[in-house]
Amino acid sequence: MDSMHCPHCGAVAMRYGEKALLGPMASRGCQACGHALSVRWSSVIALLPAMVAIPFAVEMWPTNAAMLLGVLGVSASLALHARVPLVVR
Ligand SMILES: [Zn+2]
Repeated sequence: MDSMHCPHCGAVAMRYGEKALLGPMASRGCQACGHALSVRWSSVIALLPAMVAIPFAVEMWPTNAAMLLGVLGVSASLALHARVPLVVR
C-alpha cells in the first residue's frame, strides 16, 4: 500500500502538500472515508536532513552554497516524509 493511501479504506487519503504538513501531533481526515489519519512519532526522523542543513546554511549565508544546502536539506526531509506511512488515529 502506498504511503499516500488510507490504511482504513485504501483510497488516496490526501494530497501530497496536505500530508507534508502532517505531524504526529496532528491528524487530518481521509478525503474518501473521513477517518482521522496521522503519522507515527518515528516520522520526525524525516526532519533530520533539514535540521542538520539549515544551521550550516544560516552560518554560510549569503552564499550560493548556503542556498543549495538549505534547498537540499529541506528537499531530503520532504522526500523522506512522503514515504512515511499514514496511520489511523
Ligand atoms: Zn479512508
